[in-house]
Amino acid sequence: MSIGENISKITSQLPEGVKLVAVSKYHPVEKLQEAYDAGQRLFGENHAQEMVKKHPQLPPDIEWHMIGHLQTNKVRMIMPVVTLIESIDSVKLLKTVEKEAARIGRSVDVLLQLHVAQEETKSGFSIEELLNAATQGQLEGYDHVRITGVMAMATNTPDVKQVAHEFGMVRHTYDLLKKKFFTYPEFKDVSMGMSHDWKIAVDQGSTMVRIGTDIFGPREY
Ligand SMILES: *Cc1c(COP(=O)(O)O)cnc(C)c1O
Repeated sequence: MSIGENISKITSQLPEGVKLVAVSKYHPVEKLQEAYDAGQRLFGENHAQEMVKKHPQLPPDIEWHMIGHLQTNKVRMIMPVVTLIESIDSVKLLKTVEKEAARIGRSVDVLLQLHVAQEETKSGFSIEELLNAATQGQLEGYDHVRITGVMAMATNTPDVKQVAHEFGMVRHTYDLLKKKFFTYPEFKDVSMGMSHDWKIAVDQGSTMVRIGTDIFGPREY
């Protein structure tokens, strides 16, 4: 199937209001253009350099999402091009994003990344850390950053119950944050679900899925 057909197949199965981020890391700009021509506008990249390199080669109305671990020294590089930073995994990173956004006079939307998976290699706040940070006021007062939701990855396991449990915890944490701390309407997104587990994520209340392989095929590293 073509990239366009892959996208239609996925979007036809997504409930109304659930957004699709096409994860284009490691794929050449020609493939992104093909997805764009099929109507796709949200793209996710893992590496700052790669996003910055691809950005000028593609149409300007693309929304670029940073979904990979972001080092503080790479924030400046992506600030002119990024739409949504999905991978805020520390207060330190949030502060750097605020500083760099202010420096170029823009504001930027971000998601707080939660670590619920069993793999240690995945990054993000634990649920407890995030709730503590919120309680202590460390997630407030950023004039150039708007927190618009949470993001997470589940454990890479065939155990559907485990995956559903983790996504359920993410949704629950989002609901709690929304009720207690981020009561504004723009706090609206729960980004969870990849090629192999997005249906489980949607069942658990995802509003944004991030799909690479099922759109573009396997990545060549
Ligand atoms: C690569 C990646 C995805 C997409 O993974 P696929 O299995 O190719 O769909 C989603 N989210 C993050 C954070 C990723 O790094």
